[in-house]
Amino acid sequence: MDMNSLKAQNLLKIISLLRNHPDITRQELAREAGISMPTALHMIEELSRKNLITETGENASTGGRRAKTFSLNPESGYGVGIQIARKYVEFVLVNLRGEVKEKVRYETSFSDQPAWYRKLGAKLIDLISQADVEEEKVIGVGISFPGIIDLENSLILHSHVFSLQNVSLDRFYKCISYPLVIVNDANCACYAEQSQREEDFLYISLNESVGGAIMTENTLYTGKHWQAGEVGHVVLYPKGKSCYCGKEGCSDAYLSAGVLCEGHEDLDDFFAHLEKKDPQAIQIWDTYLNDLAILVSNMRMLLDMDIVVGGDVGARMDAYVEDLAERIEEYDLFSRNVDYVRACRCKENIFSVGAALSAIDHFEYRLL
Ligand SMILES: [Zn+2]
Repeated sequence: MDMNSLKAQNLLKIISLLRNHPDITRQELAREAGISMPTALHMIEELSRKNLITETGENASTGGRRAKTFSLNPESGYGVGIQIARKYVEFVLVNLRGEVKEKVRYETSFSDQPAWYRKLGAKLIDLISQADVEEEKVIGVGISFPGIIDLENSLILHSHVFSLQNVSLDRFYKCISYPLVIVNDANCACYAEQSQREEDFLYISLNESVGGAIMTENTLYTGKHWQAGEVGHVVLYPKGKSCYCGKEGCSDAYLSAGVLCEGHEDLDDFFAHLEKKDPQAIQIWDTYLNDLAILVSNMRMLLDMDIVVGGDVGARMDAYVEDLAERIEEYDLFSRNVDYVRACRCKENIFSVGAALSAIDHFEYRLL
């Protein structure tokens, strides 16, 4: 099918809508997609014939005649997500709803060498054969990478985490034979969260490193140089702690997961101590929440949108968000209620799932 044709565009519009709104009626589809009812009926028929959508029931709320509802057949396509972290690589295979069907994690340290990339390609093939899905249903692969990615020029502009600068993405393309997209890690996390919410938001990724991403009108705002949302290097304390980027006082130096892990085995260990009211953990957390409150209130002042605290720390913060909100209130005199800050809802395999969803977004035309 010519992907630029009006028909293909309408089909893709409907697929996108169905991904975010299960159990939707024909009338709702036509309205949301901005197409006429006869066109919608025609598209639905075509998608049903391809087994991409199925009838899921009837809508009871409309009064009078009940309207049939439709959903995307979630197993009609899959995306693979790969998270490249400091000390491991995580793979997931998800269906069109973002449900994880297969996952695996390998301990490995990234190295910019041909052998490392080849191994990555081999592990991907292993995952797909383990998952027992038809190969042609894998529509694409997404990689979550801790760095600034310039997709237009196919470059990793820089990655402080891996000390890289201007590295061509061809190294990845050469070893992966599926349609491939490489995405900044915080942007991936933001993607994973977006599938569960609709309003604009800033995602603050509290992880090995601190990053952020801005989702507005269901699209990532990338900025002029692909660096929008890099909240990890907003200065919290001038002349403060050294940051790995070379500056001093960046929020990363105060809010990375490593700050909490100091003196603890890992994040789970830290939060277990915190729950047990261990005085040392309480003190570290108190400082951490105060610093996070400054960052959140500054970002809110700038963007006036919801703020999601995410990443591996945010995923463990449900019980502490109220405390955080109270601290934010001290800085934010504009809002009567600090109800704009929340912990992330996607809590597991955040980066790899986000990468997979990003791949599905990029390559969903391959479903047709
Ligand atoms: Zn920095």
